[in-house]
Amino acid sequence: MNDDAPSTPHQGTLRTADSLIQAGLVPPDQREALLRVARDYATAIPPAFSNLIEHPDDPIARQVIPDPRESTQQPHEDVDPIGDDALSPVPGVVHRYEDRALLKPLLICPLYCRFCFRREHVGPGGGLLSDEALEAAFQWFEAHPKIREVILTGGDPLMLSPRRMEKIISRLSAIPHIETIRLHTRVPVAAPERLTPALLDALESDCSVWVVLHANHARELGHDARLAVRSLLSRAIPVLSQSVLLRGVNDTAEALEDLFRAFIKARVKPYYLHHLDPAPGTAHFHVPVEEGRALLAHLRGRVTGLAWPTYVVDIPGGKGKVPLGPDYLLPQSEDKNPQRQVKAPNGTVHAFT
Ligand code: SF4
Repeated sequence: MNDDAPSTPHQGTLRTADSLIQAGLVPPDQREALLRVARDYATAIPPAFSNLIEHPDDPIARQVIPDPRESTQQPHEDVDPIGDDALSPVPGVVHRYEDRALLKPLLICPLYCRFCFRREHVGPGGGLLSDEALEAAFQWFEAHPKIREVILTGGDPLMLSPRRMEKIISRLSAIPHIETIRLHTRVPVAAPERLTPALLDALESDCSVWVVLHANHARELGHDARLAVRSLLSRAIPVLSQSVLLRGVNDTAEALEDLFRAFIKARVKPYYLHHLDPAPGTAHFHVPVEEGRALLAHLRGRVTGLAWPTYVVDIPGGKGKVPLGPDYLLPQSEDKNPQRQVKAPNGTVHAFT
């Protein structure tokens, strides 16, 4: 597929086992198994994303087509792997760090990632915060002056109507200690047509507004997605990326290099590469941490530093995010010699003071 050509959506959003079978994306004999998966987890594959699928088992398809393996939960998997629930002072708010907190105004997404760490909560049922719950969340932010940054997530905040988005952005912007509003989204790659002038107008704020775009494969960043990113940049909204390291999607040095380069081509700064959170039924996506570190070490020096994300894990239980390396500083010698040693990208060892 030519990624410079605008895509022409040819169908509606795929949401059911039968629609997936009809589209030729799953074999009919998987119908019963997929109905079992559907009892627990939502499915949605919007046209902008289904049009990227070249084969039912390709890196785009694997992210969004339900898999019978999702019905198998491993002992270490957790319905709330990063501990959101325990850190929620009022509905819709998650407070983990001193200077920032999440606001989840809805739990709808343009697509449902099969590896999502909030998969027990997100779905077309909505989870839209009522006006009263939203007001309680605003009051919580007003009462916490150490909070400088609000992270709108969910669900996907760019699934909100322009009217509701405008209300949220303007209300948060009026709180004196809020300096930054960040939105986590998959809309530019999954439903770029949602970024209408009205929705972009709704993002206008005196606060510094940032978007963090979630994409996991270079093919997601085609013509329409890049235009969507440019529409955000044209409103002075910087765009960063986050990706998840996923078996069968981006678990090779070539796939990661292509992804990070595609972000840069789209004017998106790679920010985080996440180690997979242990959500139920996602073990088939797991890439061991040593493999992740080796993949990134392979790219060090090959890929421009602009394209370099931080590889991180969210410590289970809500203890925060930490970098996983790779590291280049070697341990200090026992004699405490002030001269230290570092490993160069080619593996050679060098001293410095
Ligand atoms: S868009 Fe985000 S919140 Fe929604 S299913 Fe994907 S990972 Fe989960």
